[in-house]
Amino acid sequence: MKIKKVAIVGGTHGNEFTGTFLLRRWTNNPSEITRESFTTKTLWANPKAFYENKRYIDADLNRCFLRADLDNEAIHTYEGNRAKLINALLGPKGNPAFDFTFDIHTTTGNMGITLILIGEDQYQLRLAAFIKAHMPDVNLLCIPRELGQGNLSSVTPRMLGLEIGPVPQGLLRHDIFEQANEAMRLSLDYIHQVNKGDEPESGSNVEVFMLRGTVGFPVDDDGNICAMVHRELQDRDFKELKKGDAMFSTLNGETITFNEEKTAYPAFINEAAYYDLKIAFSLTDKISMPL
Ligand SMILES: [Zn+2]
Repeated sequence: MKIKKVAIVGGTHGNEFTGTFLLRRWTNNPSEITRESFTTKTLWANPKAFYENKRYIDADLNRCFLRADLDNEAIHTYEGNRAKLINALLGPKGNPAFDFTFDIHTTTGNMGITLILIGEDQYQLRLAAFIKAHMPDVNLLCIPRELGQGNLSSVTPRMLGLEIGPVPQGLLRHDIFEQANEAMRLSLDYIHQVNKGDEPESGSNVEVFMLRGTVGFPVDDDGNICAMVHRELQDRDFKELKKGDAMFSTLNGETITFNEEKTAYPAFINEAAYYDLKIAFSLTDKISMPL
């Protein structure tokens, strides 16, 4: 299968600076993202939110791509309009002009370089495994296809999200910037090699963290968050969380433990962007997937 048109999207969330500044680097150095077997387009997704140093203006742009919302002429939020424009440029969803979308994000969680896969697509999986073969600390996080339909990258049939952290919102870090740039370089090399009929070796299996669900913060009778992520869980993204392990500490200092029978591997632990949703972290299952 040949990929002919690749989109690299940055700044989908305005206060995640890495993607925005990588696009600026590539504007000055277009050869870094150019490969002869396909064309590459860069797209700055949410300029207004960047200038206001916010995740979004009216609505989370990375939740605006459900087909029903793209087709809904009554939606006129800033992000709703941006989603329609992006869908017109890269899509339209269902019959897209582009074959592949990269979407660059950062997280306040200690997730290292995490590659987000939506749906169980073998091409995406092998691409991610190729990156992991060259950057061993990389984690692969798979979101079931039905849960990713609001995401920007769902406009094209194939996609890869970069989610790199920990980095505070509204801040640029050299190490994170370099890691994202390296993951993108490897990604484009992989696509080019497959296009040439020369798929690189990336092993027979790869470890994947499959999204299981999310865990909300404990709240009081008024709905206010009344506990924090326990220090023993903080920063332990993709590490084992077993029944009885400390999960939250109430403001009074009481420990709340994890109670599910099945061991989980948390991600997005204490992600700052999820406080308004009162989500404390996600749970995943660690599985091995054949390539
Ligand atoms: Zn983001």
